[in-house]
Amino acid sequence: MLTFYPGPSKVYPQVKQYLSDAYDSGILSINHRSSEFMQLCQQTTQLLHQKLNIPADYTILFVSSATECWEIVTQSFMGSQTSAFHFYNGAFGQKWYDFANQLNHRCRASIFDLNNQLGFHQIRPTTTGHLFCFTQNETSNGTQVREDVFRDIAKPGNLVAVDATSSLGGITLDFLQADIWFASVQKCLGLPAGMGLLIVSPQGADIARHVNDREHYNSFPLMEENMIKNQTHYTPNVLSIYLLMRLMQDLENVTEISQRIRSQATEWYQYLGQHTSLKPLVSNPWVRSDTVIAVTGQKSAITDIHQQAEKAGITLGRGYGNWKDTTFRIANFPAITADEHTQLRTFLSEM
Ligand SMILES: *Cc1c(COP(=O)(O)O)cnc(C)c1O
Repeated sequence: MLTFYPGPSKVYPQVKQYLSDAYDSGILSINHRSSEFMQLCQQTTQLLHQKLNIPADYTILFVSSATECWEIVTQSFMGSQTSAFHFYNGAFGQKWYDFANQLNHRCRASIFDLNNQLGFHQIRPTTTGHLFCFTQNETSNGTQVREDVFRDIAKPGNLVAVDATSSLGGITLDFLQADIWFASVQKCLGLPAGMGLLIVSPQGADIARHVNDREHYNSFPLMEENMIKNQTHYTPNVLSIYLLMRLMQDLENVTEISQRIRSQATEWYQYLGQHTSLKPLVSNPWVRSDTVIAVTGQKSAITDIHQQAEKAGITLGRGYGNWKDTTFRIANFPAITADEHTQLRTFLSEM
């Protein structure tokens, strides 16, 4: 069985051993106010800072999912005068905007084209004190937003929130360029689904303390007050935290992982550039994703590939929305090996 599904995705093979160690260690029954838990929590966040190059003064919080973060961003980081601007070109950015807009009517959508390189000139805020929301890697169509876009906006007073669900842990992210970053663990982190990470800059935390949303179980100030004690605001997914801790101990720094992922992405785009019936969905190389490769072709060819892949025991990502019948997606997540990518290319070449 080979899976290239972009989430839930292939888990690292080490997870098998970690799971059995977790059971044997007794960690699965610990109380989340105990010193054992606080130690686990502290060690895990410390390793995340170290291995993912997260600045020391950024706060890392354990939440249930990226979807939960969509709500937290709107609830806890928007003051009574704040407007939010959501920039997106695909299904995940759209869903984020839809939830945000239900919660707060001062959210606005700005939709850009698949092949467009989002630039500061399109965004330029005339006033400060606003929230700008981006999906760094749009999992549904295999595009990404480059970090220089965030840098230009994140002047003091504006907050930039970034959904990095399908890139965090896979490619290097310059955390200094935005205030709020989030992801869940079942994509580039190669772990079983069931937990999310919310990463907040000192400026982001200051603003949230000032907004002082306390209406929700997951209001930022309450989560932060717990995390200062290395605790969580609810009984957490201790198993997932433990798996993350073990994984971070074993993995190399994300800079090294990122080099491999980016060169594998280049290999895929070169391969597709030469293929007779398939090509990258995204024609502008600058906005192509490194971690999710979207492939397009004639409807009949794509249907055929899905059928043959299933027979061969290969799981591909289905197309999304408008691209449902004419695309498929390949996860280029770190748990998937170079050899597995070669096997998939062999399969596609023999089709
Ligand atoms: C998968 C995904 C989500 C949703 O993640 P959950 O863990 O299901 O909440 C959000 N945003 C992006 C970009 C994703 O790829």
